[in-house]
Amino acid sequence: MTKINLKALSREALPAYIKSLGLPAFRAKQLAHWIYERRAEDIVELSEYSRELRDRLAEQAYISNLKMLDRLVSVDGTEKYLWELQDGETIESVLIRDDDRLTLCISSQVGCALKCAFCLTGTLGLKRNLESHEIADQVISAARLVAPKTITNIVLMGMGEPLMNFDNVVEALWSMTDWMHISPRRITLSTAGIVPKILELTKRAPIVNLAISLNATTNSVRDRVMPINRTYPLKDLLAACRAFPLPPRRRITFEYVLLKDVNDTPEDAKRLDELLRGIPAKVNLIPFNPFPGAPFGRPEEHRVLAFQERLAGKYMTVLVRKSKGQDVLAACGQLKAARG
Ligand code: SAH
Repeated sequence: MTKINLKALSREALPAYIKSLGLPAFRAKQLAHWIYERRAEDIVELSEYSRELRDRLAEQAYISNLKMLDRLVSVDGTEKYLWELQDGETIESVLIRDDDRLTLCISSQVGCALKCAFCLTGTLGLKRNLESHEIADQVISAARLVAPKTITNIVLMGMGEPLMNFDNVVEALWSMTDWMHISPRRITLSTAGIVPKILELTKRAPIVNLAISLNATTNSVRDRVMPINRTYPLKDLLAACRAFPLPPRRRITFEYVLLKDVNDTPEDAKRLDELLRGIPAKVNLIPFNPFPGAPFGRPEEHRVLAFQERLAGKYMTVLVRKSKGQDVLAACGQLKAARG
């Protein structure tokens, strides 16, 4: 008999499973509490269950855990984790420290199918989607490591395109909000722009923050650096952003990776401003993080600042994302790529 992975049970399946054992509903609540808040790694830890009940459960069920293969700590406090999944595949998460904030950047797929020209994960191709519990477990496992501190923010900006693994990402988001009690305001989903899924997200998932990896201001450049633009061009992407039912005082984040001489000109800054007009937006400028064999360069600091200044004042924030953890290979996919 194959054992049931309790962590893989959805919000509907977990209570149904407990019921199928002839147990009262409160046992399901306790189980979710132990897995998602107490972060139990094994059924034996479930001290609210009697020894007898634990033994009975352990005969047919277990709790899966990510296995940590590597933990790299940067001088600036950024940490990078390489996790092994049950089938031997590996994924990364990154923990970023900013004053009181602890942001965990998590992966949604093993590899990625989108082949963005500036992204190292793209060179790996898509291996497989992550199961919802493999997505959520990155949060549980990292939370265990940073305790007694708590992770304050979650960003789905690691390996993979979250909206290409829609159902599992949605389920993982619900387990973060409903089971781990993380506010959806503190969760950000970043997408390369899978237009139909952006709107579906608002109907199916908790209202998390949306980040769009824009990265170009013309279709010709975006087609080149992000091939998904050929399917969902800028006009459709921005229309979806305009239709996104943003809660009051919230804005959509636009990420813009600055690629030297490709999308970092004054004309780009002007076009970017025009494209975003009418959208409650903040802009996150990310100087390209080079990797061996990359076909792009990183613009000099003065060009980054000039680009930022052209936009400043129009958006409440134009952030230049600091490249954190350079010494532990910060660009996503770099740890996995280095391990093969
Ligand atoms: N697929 C999702 C999430 C993963 S990429 C998305 O496209 O948003 C997360 C962010 O990292 C994106 O904004 C992407 O543009 C950026 N990124 C990827 N490779 C990079 C690199 N080499 N240097 C700087 N930013 C990069």
